[in-house]
Amino acid sequence: MCSNLNKGFVMAHRAGRHFLQIPGPSPVPERLVRAISAPVIDHRGPDFALLGHAVLSGMKRIFQTSSPVIIYPSSGTGAWEACLMNLLVPGDKVLFYETGQFAKLWRSMADRLGIVTDILEGDWRSGVDANRIEDALKRDTGNAYKAVCCVHHETSCGITSDIKAVRDAINVTNHQALLLVDSISGLGSVEYKHDAWGADVTVSGSQKGLMLPSGLGFNALSDKAIEVSKNINGQRSYWAWDDMLRANADGFFPYTPATTLLYGLKEAIAMLEEEGLLNVFSRHKKLACAVRDCVSHWGLETVCQVERQHSNALTGVMMPEDVDADKVRQVILEQFDMSLGTGLGKLQGKAFRIGHLGDINELVLMGTLCGVEMGLSLAGVPYQQGGVEAAMQYLTSHGEET
Ligand code: PLP
Repeated sequence: MCSNLNKGFVMAHRAGRHFLQIPGPSPVPERLVRAISAPVIDHRGPDFALLGHAVLSGMKRIFQTSSPVIIYPSSGTGAWEACLMNLLVPGDKVLFYETGQFAKLWRSMADRLGIVTDILEGDWRSGVDANRIEDALKRDTGNAYKAVCCVHHETSCGITSDIKAVRDAINVTNHQALLLVDSISGLGSVEYKHDAWGADVTVSGSQKGLMLPSGLGFNALSDKAIEVSKNINGQRSYWAWDDMLRANADGFFPYTPATTLLYGLKEAIAMLEEEGLLNVFSRHKKLACAVRDCVSHWGLETVCQVERQHSNALTGVMMPEDVDADKVRQVILEQFDMSLGTGLGKLQGKAFRIGHLGDINELVLMGTLCGVEMGLSLAGVPYQQGGVEAAMQYLTSHGEET
């Protein structure tokens, strides 16, 4: 038996490839690496307009919207700010639903921008309860809330929320609030329908389901959002939608775009559409079901406690009370060169997150789960062996899930 495990962590070259199984940035496939390595072109020249039109119209199909999509050279946080700055001014009131750390961070950004926020606190183990939003809106008879903000796919917990139910809650109360949604980690991995679900703005980013490096932020708009923004007398410049929309009409941007990432985005859209968006979603669902069978076999809890709200792009795994989840992650990184997501906010040290989104298939998933199971063993976590077999069993007995 080999007993010569490497005890010290050395950042030297390691054979094989690193497993980047955090819930974004997700691994960038070779095809996209090649696309973004093409030479930069003149962003005011005729060739650029072709690229601009291709990505602007392609992203409409990914968001499932007929309204414009704005593309910023920014991270997702920038796109959050753009959404708020184009629609709200200091003193405006907004209702946030706290599903986890990202909803909390978005809300604290709004606070810093002088927006008055009310919060419906969640338990971080379940998604948005649209009934609570409906009750809050019923009480707001004067339409003081200018917007309802929620996270479609809460990356800190692995929870998906029903955005259509939130839209219904707004409609049933005849409330005028805009619906602002973060699907930074959901878009391109799990179903998202900007128009059909009635979102006014959907915020997203390039480094998750779109399989690119970080650096592109998105705002998908509605006609109502565009109208409201025209009448807002707030301060904005870099993020201003109107400048963007004017330039985008001809395929250009008002300032230097992230050209190489846009090459990658064009290719990423092609990859998603060659596979078919519905097939992409069912691939993610099948892999996620296998992960959940595995975790349940280990005798561990997922962070998400509501069956229909489980994320298909990542799984949050709770550790037993006396186990430090970050120590387990550390063992797995040192021994098997695999990065897992840390617990965020109040889940720090209590849970870790397995990313299974983007450019991933059955064998990469099985490698990931093997690494986790071996790590649980080495870190001395009490668990029931055989989770990996349970996942294999799932994958071999199920087709793509719809
Ligand atoms: N919202 C969600 C749901 C996220 O997952 C993230 C990043 O992981 C963000 C917002 C922030 O995006 P970024 O780190 O690209 O600024």
